Amino acid sequence: METIRKTIESYGYAEVQTPTFEFLKLFEIRSGEKFRDDVFVFQDPTKYLKDEDKVVDYVLRPEYTAPICRMYITSDLCIQPKPVKIYYIGSCYRYETPQPGRYREFTQVGVELIGSPHPEADVELIILAAEVLKALKLKKFIIRINDLNILRGLLSDFDHDYDAQNRIFNAIDGAAGALRKLDLNVPINKTREGVIEEVQTELKELGVAPELSKILESFLELHGDAKEVIPRIQALVKKAPTAVKAIDNSPLKFVVEKLKNYGLIDCEIDLGIARGLDYYTNIVFEIDLPILGNQKQVCGGGRYNRLIQEFGGEDTPATGFAFGFDRLLLAYSKVHERKKPSSPVDALICTYSPDEQDWALQVAGELRKEGFKVEIDLMRRKFKSSLSNANKREIPFAIIIGPTEKEQQELTLKDLESGIQDTMTYDDALNEMKEKLWGID
Ligand code: AMP
Repeated sequence: METIRKTIESYGYAEVQTPTFEFLKLFEIRSGEKFRDDVFVFQDPTKYLKDEDKVVDYVLRPEYTAPICRMYITSDLCIQPKPVKIYYIGSCYRYETPQPGRYREFTQVGVELIGSPHPEADVELIILAAEVLKALKLKKFIIRINDLNILRGLLSDFDHDYDAQNRIFNAIDGAAGALRKLDLNVPINKTREGVIEEVQTELKELGVAPELSKILESFLELHGDAKEVIPRIQALVKKAPTAVKAIDNSPLKFVVEKLKNYGLIDCEIDLGIARGLDYYTNIVFEIDLPILGNQKQVCGGGRYNRLIQEFGGEDTPATGFAFGFDRLLLAYSKVHERKKPSSPVDALICTYSPDEQDWALQVAGELRKEGFKVEIDLMRRKFKSSLSNANKREIPFAIIIGPTEKEQQELTLKDLESGIQDTMTYDDALNEMKEKLWGID
């Protein structure tokens, strides 16, 4: 948790906390019709006994964005210079069917970036989420981004109002999630055709015209690079003027380009992301850790430019994300368990003779500063018996230093698992050890 905290704070976020239970009303303003079925609601018993008309419904906090909006409006946060950057860590409660990675009580770590309407804010937010994963040495993730304005534009061209749009979003979100799992060969007891048939029926029940249903089905499968995806969306919605305008004005291309320039190559546009809650506007995103299988979505977020105003505050654009901490822990233990060597030592330095001692001490000192556990042979063993000692103890690396290495100020790094060895500079050895032991490039 300290690593996550440090990373978030390095972007200028300050921690806040909100109550564990809230008035149900707070969430009912903009969380969708199905919201009540998915949360733990209870009533104040004393009030209930005194006056039935005054029964108040409470809810165990299912997420933080709505409470933070209330906090923003009712505290001096709203008069602070923009953007206001706050983060939180705490328990959330949802009425789920418990399964691995999906619990009724779980911990979220999230941030809210309030006040900037510009796509630079979306870019920095997504970079921060990626940096949290990198700091945890979870380097294999996929960022999927969408702009809900395109979908909203299309649906309004077909005369679906805001509430109807949200119902359609829910149907799309569920189907897209199932298809993504099938893409990754995650078993979900459904076939591709089954998922499509189900969403077709659902869309029909929601009054979606066959022509629109066809476009939405194509959206479900539409993901990839901006250069490929955007012309395909344009072709699909060319008869829908609001959607065409939304694509022209969309910051999607800008955001994806900036992320790629930053080095986040595993990010793609995914028209299937609609997000579960009704308050999202514009850019939304999700991050998957494929190592987690069925519950691979570890982070979700996006813009909620209307929510603060709907809660009675000034017109204030905002964006944010939440990590599922339990899923981060699961992924962390999966990745690091696999990489965990059986020895508590990462590398044993074997020298040919005491003449190489100075350079060996220097290399050991530098590696220890980087966080590696390093031993130098202190038994004056012959070089070969020192290597066999490292092998016996299942130490992952031997660092061999002989007269040539000493002279060139280099070292020979031997991967004792594969048996491969190579002479290289200290920096190259450091990178190779980081890659093998910690999984980072
Ligand atoms: P959400 O607030 O639905 O956008 O969720 C944000 C993140 O919280 C998700 O990406 C998950 O990692 C995590 N999450 C959501 N629901 C659960 C749950 N029931 N159990 C564990 N983690 C969850």
